[in-house]
Amino acid sequence: TTACLERITATEPTVAALLHIDAENALAAATALDKTGPDAACPLWGVPVTIKDALSTKGMPTTAGSRMLEGYTPFYDAFAVQKLREAGAVILGKANMDEFAMGSSTENSAYKTTRNPWNPNKVPGGSSGGSAASVTAGQCFASLGTDTGGSIRQPAAFCGCVGLKPTYGRVSRYGVIAYGSSLDQVGPLTRNVEDCAHMLTAIAGPDARDNTCDPRPAENYAAALGSRSLKGARLGIPREFYGEGLAPEVRAACEATMQAVKAQGAELVEVGLPHTDAAIATYYIIAMAEASSNLARFDGVRFGHRASDIKNLEELYVRSRTEGFGQEVKRRIMLGAYVLSSGYYDAYYRKAAQVRRLIRDEILAALDQCDALLAPVSPVTASDMGSNTADPLQIYLMDAYTLSLNLAGLPGLSLPVGLGEESHMPVGMQLIGKPFAEADLLALGHSME
Ligand code: GLN
Repeated sequence: TTACLERITATEPTVAALLHIDAENALAAATALDKTGPDAACPLWGVPVTIKDALSTKGMPTTAGSRMLEGYTPFYDAFAVQKLREAGAVILGKANMDEFAMGSSTENSAYKTTRNPWNPNKVPGGSSGGSAASVTAGQCFASLGTDTGGSIRQPAAFCGCVGLKPTYGRVSRYGVIAYGSSLDQVGPLTRNVEDCAHMLTAIAGPDARDNTCDPRPAENYAAALGSRSLKGARLGIPREFYGEGLAPEVRAACEATMQAVKAQGAELVEVGLPHTDAAIATYYIIAMAEASSNLARFDGVRFGHRASDIKNLEELYVRSRTEGFGQEVKRRIMLGAYVLSSGYYDAYYRKAAQVRRLIRDEILAALDQCDALLAPVSPVTASDMGSNTADPLQIYLMDAYTLSLNLAGLPGLSLPVGLGEESHMPVGMQLIGKPFAEADLLALGHSME
């Protein structure tokens, strides 16, 4: 803990990964653990971690990167946070993020701009950019993120660390500030696959307070790491993920990885996912619709920022929301309300829900032919700071390879596979599996390291 806190002091001026540093309580927790000594019931005994600011932390500010929640300190822990504490982890602080997890570069945070530890002129990815940057900068050994459309896997890829989006329902969403409730999942970002397996073992499992949380118990994912290797594994290569738009340097790194897994005895089979090009439109309709509903609670009365000097109730709502929400959040609330409004619901929301089912069925059919799919996480490496804030559509298009898993509820493990020849920035590939195949994905990923 002391070493990580020193590392935070040394790296924060350039990386700016954290919104809140809880040095005093972290040291007290570590000292208490030292007194009792290592304990088999605490598999993460003394492991320093950071937490994305979308997860509620008891006694520690939680803002979801928004002015709307400035000054809010929850009186309870999110399920996954509570599980980490029970496993002996030490919580160092809260990681920066795009406001309400809406974004792909962490530039939508209302508080600060996090930089990629590999190159401070590049974004760390997002929305869990603070988590990925804190792991890569050595500020902690692991972090928790959330992934609604790629927000764990893409920053992990951009920063060169490991990130896992578990199956929808594998980790409870209790205490997570909701973005798109049918898409959101909590998962770990770590330095390697083994650490990722330990983190998932701690946070997975049933929780009666989230009725979409699956009842089956957590597996011991770390113990299963040696259970299989690439030898004899059939990996599906989805044609549509390697089409136009994939940057040459990302393609080159992916092809080198395919050669390497073949050399280890894996068989590569080409599969087709023809609805992939509909994933972006489908995702943004569903995510914005759910966001407009979830964020309705921040009205200045029950939750969030409250405007002062107001004359009536309407002005309270309008001014509180105008002052509290950033531009991207407002854009999404408006678009979400639009696709749900009468007259447009059938044309947009219902249609998107139908296409979502096609996408899910199609990926599951491809997974019937192989053990896992192997695909790039992002068509590009980390972009320059400030380079794409002007055109939201360009930013949405970059999520092409990550969104379909969230629409389908499937697990995806993002692994660093090397540096791009041109940008010299990390490239990530993801292993995509059947529902609840995390143990398999982690074992395969482990043998790819
Ligand atoms: N970039 C996507 C979005 O802005 C995904 C974000 C996420 O997974 N939270 O919605």
